[in-house]
Amino acid sequence: MVVDMVNDFVTGKFGSPRARKIVPRLRAFLERARSKGLLVVYVCDAHRPDDPELKVWGEHSMKGSEGAEIVEELSPKEGDLVFEKQWYDAFQNPSLDAELRRRGVKELLMTGVATNICVQNTAAEASFKGYDVTVLEDLTDAETIEDHRQGLKYMKTMYGAKVVKADEAL
Ligand code: ZN
Repeated sequence: MVVDMVNDFVTGKFGSPRARKIVPRLRAFLERARSKGLLVVYVCDAHRPDDPELKVWGEHSMKGSEGAEIVEELSPKEGDLVFEKQWYDAFQNPSLDAELRRRGVKELLMTGVATNICVQNTAAEASFKGYDVTVLEDLTDAETIEDHRQGLKYMKTMYGAKVVKADEAL
């Protein structure tokens, strides 16, 4: 699962060097994952003007805008799935859970940004729904190293998520 690797979170409004740093590694990982037959699922902010979250953050990753497009280096390939979301937690979009269940998905490998916001909130609901959650610590990141570590620790402690490096996961 690739969380919010869209322009606004990588190069745009909320972009950061930390987010940009994971792009090449994530690209390579996704290629390996596809070659092993793993399903690649993108979940991406696609906000509407009246989304409650905009009161907190202002406009970002607005549906149909360039900011909401997946960064070019990580463009989806044939067979990948893309789900839009208007919340931190991607499972608020009911199509996501329905499609994962239809395909018999039991475990999620979490990548993307931000570790302590959308990754964490999506991991929370995934664990409540019974998925095994593994967070790839070198393919997720946040605005600061502290935010990143805090998110990893919270997911491990609260949801029993495994936290491993990408190489260990595959
Ligand atoms: Zn958002």
